[in-house]
Amino acid sequence: MLSYRHAFHAGNHADVLKHAVVVQLLRYLGQKDKAYWYIDTHAGAGVYSLVEGYATKTAEFETGIAKLWERTDLPAVLEDYVAQVRALNGDGQLRYYPGSPYLAWRLMRTQDRMRLFELHTTEIEVLRHNFRDAGRRAMLYAGDGFDGIKALLPPPPRRALVLVDPSFEDKHDYARTLGCVEESLKRFATGIYAIWYPQVTRAESQRFPEQLKALQPTNWLHVSLTVSRPPSDGYGLYGSGMFILNPPYTLAGAMKETMPYLAKFLGQDETAQFKIESRMA
Ligand code: SAM
Repeated sequence: MLSYRHAFHAGNHADVLKHAVVVQLLRYLGQKDKAYWYIDTHAGAGVYSLVEGYATKTAEFETGIAKLWERTDLPAVLEDYVAQVRALNGDGQLRYYPGSPYLAWRLMRTQDRMRLFELHTTEIEVLRHNFRDAGRRAMLYAGDGFDGIKALLPPPPRRALVLVDPSFEDKHDYARTLGCVEESLKRFATGIYAIWYPQVTRAESQRFPEQLKALQPTNWLHVSLTVSRPPSDGYGLYGSGMFILNPPYTLAGAMKETMPYLAKFLGQDETAQFKIESRMA
């Protein structure tokens, strides 16, 4: 039985990092006319209210999007990301937050397709409702994204962004993510894969970045944002990372301009920091 609901966390510092990167990856794929697929193995509900329901109980968006919302000095990557959030909030008040499927839907062209997996029975219903007018360009699957992606690779246009974004509340998600990406690379070696992971104190999280790097010797970019020291009770998210396989060449430079700003404005104590590592062929 799954209990995780992304609405509790919508728009937090980890969503900011993840979604700012996803927007850039979709922009890159959109530079060529040739179609691409967007595949989200863990899609969530698609759109979240920040003014009612789960998000108001934790107000995690105050650690993320709310800190950028009023700023007028954003670096280009964050300007682009915040503009996508603004598009959902027509009157300028921050009330709704776009999940990754909604961001992708906004940036896709008519020739592009999306494939979304969501296992949670309530979340998939909300996702279906949010995409009720999408037509055949968006296919939604109520099921396990780690397994389901196998049948989609390689995608017909041979161009795709795959977002692997589990909640990692189940410690098996770490091994399942590694297995899923390893298997996916065998079927579709040239795809762009973006893997999000949490910085938490559990051992699986600590060793995860090195395990991700072992998936492919070159052509990867790793960015992480630590917002505070680990919580003293051993629980809770104190940062996150995005690991991108086969990234666009320009992304590392763009993130070098972005990450100092994120560490400065989303950092919660003096230990806040960012890291950028890449290995390109
Ligand atoms: N990608 C979303 C976004 O950025 O807006 C957030 C996804 S949230 C971190 C993870 C989601 O995965 C949850 O909605 C959860 O119900 C769902 N989930 C958990 N295990 C899954 C699985 N094995 N396959 C597909 N979805 C799963």
